Amino acid sequence: MRERVHRGGVIEVICGPMFSGKTEELIRRVRRAQIARQTVVVLKPYLDTRFDENHLVSHSAQKAPSVRVRTSEDVLELGRNADVVGIDEVQFLDSGIVEVIETLANLGKRVIVAGLDMDFRGQPFEPVPQLLARAEYITKTLAICVVCGQPASRSQRVTREGERIVVGSTDHYEARCRACYQAPEETVVSDVASGGLHQQ
Ligand code: ADP
Ligand code: ZN
Repeated sequence: MRERVHRGGVIEVICGPMFSGKTEELIRRVRRAQIARQTVVVLKPYLDTRFDENHLVSHSAQKAPSVRVRTSEDVLELGRNADVVGIDEVQFLDSGIVEVIETLANLGKRVIVAGLDMDFRGQPFEPVPQLLARAEYITKTLAICVVCGQPASRSQRVTREGERIVVGSTDHYEARCRACYQAPEETVVSDVASGGLHQQ
């Protein structure tokens, strides 16, 4: 039988590169919901330990209390009791988060999700593309390119690690525009993967 869909539920996605103001925008929306006396819960994955364990903290040092979660099931548990559910750094959660967010929206919740749309290689970063397809509202935030000052859509890794997830701030990443962004060389990763053999 089809699950009953309650009125008023929506998915809002805020996405863009690092330093583009995703966390600031999430904090702004959450604060307004609190002023409107709605029940709000803000969640962030354990992996993102930037600055403070029990708050969202933006690169501009804005803060909002948050609860850390390990899995998408935790998001469902904690989100059930709120009117508004904020989730930061959604790209660090498991793929089950897409169904969980759909379920919460179907329960009538306003779900506000922030996350990276691309990884450091410039590839779409799941589950954000899945969420963009399902969202009612989409905001793409841009940073300022540190090289030329134009709007920046890419996160440039300035260290040589090859893994997809390396948590860091300006010590590891820079905001760059399309023209100034340089894709990392495949050989950095394939050197490791192939035991030192060079690949084109
Ligand atoms: P995100 O969540 O997208 O990583 P935050 O909301 O945490 O971004 O931080 C945005 C803030 O980062 C900006 O308001 C600004 O103060 C700061 N900042 C640092 N570097 C840049 C940059 N290159 N472009 C824009 N903002 C930057
Ligand atoms: Zn540039």
